[in-house]
Amino acid sequence: MGCLNYFDHNATAPMNQVAREVWLDAVERYPGNPSSLHRIGTRADKALEDVRLVLANRLGCSPLDLVWTSGATESNNMAWYHMGQTLSADAEVWVSEMEHPCSIESATRWLGNHVKWIPSNGDGLVDLDWLEAQVRHGKPHLVCIMAANNETGCLQPWESVRTWCQEQGIAFFCDASQWVGRLPVSGLGACDWVSACAHKFGGPKGVGFLKCPSKGRLDAFILGGPQEMNRRAGTENVPGILSMVASLEAREKEINEESTQQRLIIQQEFEALLQSVFPNIRILGKDVNRLWNTTSVIMPEVDCRIRWVVKLDKEGFAVSTGSACSSGKEKTSHVLASMGLNASEAGRVLRFSSGWDTSLNAWNALSVALQDVFQKIIHSEQALE
Ligand code: PLP
Repeated sequence: MGCLNYFDHNATAPMNQVAREVWLDAVERYPGNPSSLHRIGTRADKALEDVRLVLANRLGCSPLDLVWTSGATESNNMAWYHMGQTLSADAEVWVSEMEHPCSIESATRWLGNHVKWIPSNGDGLVDLDWLEAQVRHGKPHLVCIMAANNETGCLQPWESVRTWCQEQGIAFFCDASQWVGRLPVSGLGACDWVSACAHKFGGPKGVGFLKCPSKGRLDAFILGGPQEMNRRAGTENVPGILSMVASLEAREKEINEESTQQRLIIQQEFEALLQSVFPNIRILGKDVNRLWNTTSVIMPEVDCRIRWVVKLDKEGFAVSTGSACSSGKEKTSHVLASMGLNASEAGRVLRFSSGWDTSLNAWNALSVALQDVFQKIIHSEQALE
């Protein structure tokens, strides 16, 4: 796949070479059902347990804490379902209002009035003062804050909140879908709950994991089989899981201070260029730590963002509006609203999200394409006047 001008890695990333090779190899090598008792089955089961250990070592948790899932949507639904079944009548959970819709909707469904929403500030970070102020009135059972926001790339202070929660005896849940494979995962294993998926970092689509407390029962969301120690029924996606862990291992070997810094410099140069050529644009979360791959921008008031996406697509660049839009009818993003953007500003936000192999040339070409599209829009508007 020619992915040179693909700037939508936060939606999904193309499968990388390692992931592809491991997936194909596993299809050949492990045709059995891991639950079967014959040797072909037990071989597949052994392969799953081997990579469970590899992932557990990376995260810093017990392999028993890990449940394979079909992706982060399922992982999040699973966690919220369990909490809905087990939370005591007077308990609360505090959830960042910038979480992914699959968390917001399932927490709302299963926990209803037990949820208090943690506000965010204009920079796209959760409001830590809110946590400090609220806890004086009583502790929640659990706090949920994602590691990196999918729309803005803003890195949330999950490590300090996790430590704070531990000190207070509060459970901590972190959706790390946009962090894993881009920044080191070590330390995530200390969170009580973690969700992530493979397809954001070059693994296959339709596979992910949930890290959950192995002690105590997990109320299963998907029923009908004893797989995953009765925590998630259904035949495991053996090639997908092996490919996901191999892809993560490959990424983890690439992640270091230098590789991250190089990409942050490219991001800064791109943003500086955009700000020099476009009047009055605003880069979201400009002054806070962000993922090295994500730039979200309130574009000039010349056109709506869907038309920008279509026009850039014609120029050969895949970019995103940053949030899901259903059946072509866009709702204002809850993330942008929580950052205080009005409907007009939110309606002009474009998200550019790169991958490990996106070159400086590709970023430069994107900025040229943005200027070309801008000129075309201006000229077509002038022609209409
Ligand atoms: N959580 C976050 C932060 C995400 O960005 C996404 C996907 O965009 C998900 C959850 C859902 O992941 P999946 O596509 O694996 O269901």
